[in-house]
Amino acid sequence: MPDVKVRFAPSPTGHMHIGNTRTALFNWLLARKLGGRFMLRIDDTDRERSRAEYEQSLREVLTWLGLTWEEEARQSARMARYDEVVARLKAEGRVYACYETAEELEVMRKRLLSRGLPPIYDRSALKLTAEEIAAYEKEGRRPHYRFKLSPGLIEWDDMVRGPVHYDAANLADPVIIRADGSYLYHLPSVIDDADFGITHIIRGEDHVTNTAAQIQMFEALGAPVPSFAHLPLLTGKEGKLSKRLGSLGVRELRAEGTEAMAICSFLAKLGTSEAIEPFYDLDSLAQSLDLSRLGRSQPKFDEAELKLFNTRFVRSLPFARVKDRVNCDEAFWNAVRGNLETVAGIAEWEKICHQKLKPVIEDKALTDSAAGLLPPEPWDETTYNSWVEALKTATDRRGKALFHPLRKAITAAETGPELKVLLPLIGRCRVCNRLKGLEA
Ligand code: GLU
Repeated sequence: MPDVKVRFAPSPTGHMHIGNTRTALFNWLLARKLGGRFMLRIDDTDRERSRAEYEQSLREVLTWLGLTWEEEARQSARMARYDEVVARLKAEGRVYACYETAEELEVMRKRLLSRGLPPIYDRSALKLTAEEIAAYEKEGRRPHYRFKLSPGLIEWDDMVRGPVHYDAANLADPVIIRADGSYLYHLPSVIDDADFGITHIIRGEDHVTNTAAQIQMFEALGAPVPSFAHLPLLTGKEGKLSKRLGSLGVRELRAEGTEAMAICSFLAKLGTSEAIEPFYDLDSLAQSLDLSRLGRSQPKFDEAELKLFNTRFVRSLPFARVKDRVNCDEAFWNAVRGNLETVAGIAEWEKICHQKLKPVIEDKALTDSAAGLLPPEPWDETTYNSWVEALKTATDRRGKALFHPLRKAITAAETGPELKVLLPLIGRCRVCNRLKGLEA
């Protein structure tokens, strides 16, 4: 088996969204699992729509997610290579010039459909005489070019879909070069995959028919055909792929405090028979990858579910995974993480515990008494409980009437970690002052 190499081939015409992140992730995981390499290919043949800022943003998001690449290429730098291959394919009769205008093609299409036939290009360009071609050229028409499919069955064993078959007779020869000379995606992609030795291609199922034609392109180039996996596309809550979903930006998710590994854990298991569980590093996620566990139906992606999962993820994060990003020690992290929604949220609790705050006194009799009864340090396991018992007796307050005013005085917040856990973190002196209503 040749060395495994995969690629992620985004067009820099927009920011990374949840859909292409999933494609990048599966490719990266497969490479890691099989001990292979991951390549970034910038598909920037569309000069009009490609932008440097999108490319920059794609790179930033991939890096943040940990989906780093060992090699990269850009299609706009490889035009001479594509021209060279096309010249050869023209000479071999696999690429041919066509002169129909878009309107003429549309008329042909409608005519076929009205006769109940599939709208497959009839190759009339191949029957043009030299005079007809000369007449078109004189008119100022520029040719576009198609790849000529060979008759027969096209088959592959898809890593997700299982055996797939296409009869070439049911496919139209794909246009590979537009009349303005620009390349469409199909052939350059195959030339790159062949030249860079790509062994596995994972992409969305919207590419399945492209794959059928591209398999013949690999064969025409004399290159080995890679293995393919077509992922069912994500759908929105409402059933069909929504614009909003397609564009749900990973940059925005990041800015909202969604963890990179929460996104990766979530996307890797969405639509599989496995439960969505936190994975803390890409390596262990890669070891768990099993494409055969992906179902054929389109998984629903719900942003709210991702948010909930992220909360669960943050609350389960071992200190070792966050220690470089927080200012607190392990005991503090463990005490507070169960109340966080984002890792950054720890800063709020550090402030509450270690910086001055204005206490909120709701029940002065209770908090005064609490200050008076506060046991001396050192505190142990039993200190908090005996303090609370003493308070109950002294103030005749129970439940919410007891704990809520204490919490408001000590933290100025409505909710948070258990007071039992917080008290030692804040320290006796500060707790006592706050209970007395002093800014501390
Ligand atoms: N640039 C293409 C796309 O984004 C790549 C498709 C492929 O993976 O071959 O759709």
